[in-house]
Amino acid sequence: MLPRGLEVRSGPGCPVCVTSVSEVQAAIEIALSRKAVLTTYGDMFRVPALRGMSLMKAKAKGADVRIVYSISDSVKLAEKLGVEVVHFAIGFETTAPTTAAELIRGVPENFSVIVSHRLIPPAMEYLLKSGDVAIDGFLCPGHVSTIIGSEPYEPIAKAFKKPMVVGGFEPLDVLASILMILEQMRDGRCEVEIEYSRSVKREGNVKAKRFMEEVFEPCDGDWRGIGVIPSSKLRLREGYERFDALKRFDVELSFEEEMPRGCRCADVLKGLIYPWECPLYNKACTPLTPIGPCAVSVEGACHIAMKHGVKGPEDAFNLEL
Ligand code: SF4
Repeated sequence: MLPRGLEVRSGPGCPVCVTSVSEVQAAIEIALSRKAVLTTYGDMFRVPALRGMSLMKAKAKGADVRIVYSISDSVKLAEKLGVEVVHFAIGFETTAPTTAAELIRGVPENFSVIVSHRLIPPAMEYLLKSGDVAIDGFLCPGHVSTIIGSEPYEPIAKAFKKPMVVGGFEPLDVLASILMILEQMRDGRCEVEIEYSRSVKREGNVKAKRFMEEVFEPCDGDWRGIGVIPSSKLRLREGYERFDALKRFDVELSFEEEMPRGCRCADVLKGLIYPWECPLYNKACTPLTPIGPCAVSVEGACHIAMKHGVKGPEDAFNLEL
C-alpha cells in the first residue's frame, strides 16, 4: 500500500534479538551450575549463544530451565520451591517496570535477577550518530512510549532534525503514523507527535517510571551484533544489588561476541538490510531451525517476514525492483 520510494525498516526493537551473547551465556552458566532454577520468557529459550549453546540445550543437559509468562510467576516459583531461583529479565522500558515493581513489593531472599533491560532512546541516538543508515523519520514504539511517554524523544528529534511519531499497532495506526511523518517532512517540521494517543501521553506512565527510577540506574549496554551503546542498559541500584544474580553466583559477563557464521542479524537490527538479504534467510535459517535471534523471536524481523511468506522484495513491496 505504500508508494514507491517509501521504505519502512525494522530497527533494534526486538528484546530477545538485542540481548547480548554474554548475557545469554551467563544465564546458561548459572543454569548449568545447578545452583539455581533459571526462569525466562519462551522466545529466549532457543536463542543461540556461544558455540550454538542455548538455554534449551542446557535443559537437555539436565539444567532446570523453566519458561514463565511474567516475573511474578518466577517469584511464586521461588516461594514454592524454597531453592535459588534466577529470573532472566529481558526487555525494554515495557517490561522493566514489572521487574522493578516485584523487587519493591518484596521478593524472597532465594530469588535474584539477571537484569538485561535496555532503553530505546539511546539506541535511536546511536543509530543516528553512526550515520550507517539514512533515516528520514522514526515510527516510535507504542508499548515503550506508553511507559516513558513521548518526551524523551524530543531532544533527539531536535538535535538530529528528524520527524518522529509514536504509533499504535493496528494497521491503520501504522499507516496514519507514516502519513504524519510524511506530513512533517513535507512541512519541514521535526517534532514528536503522538498518533497512539489512546495509550500514550507526553509524560508517560508516571508511576511505572518512578518504580524504574527507584530500582534501576542506567549503564553502558552491549547490544547483540551492534556493540556497546552508552547509557542504554539498566542495572540495579545499591539498595537492590543483593538481588543481582551475576553477583550472587559470581558470574562475569564475558563480552565474547559470536554471531553464527553467515548470519546478518546485526545488519537487520540496524536497518541496514532487509531480512531476505541475508544469505541464510529461509534456507538454512527458518523459524523452526533458527540460526540467528531475529528468526527465533516472534518479534524478530526475520521471523515475521518468514511467517508471512516473504521470499524477497517482490513479496514485500509488490514492486519490480
Ligand atoms: Fe540472522 Fe537468520 Fe535473519 Fe539471517 S535470516 S539475519 S541468520 S536470523
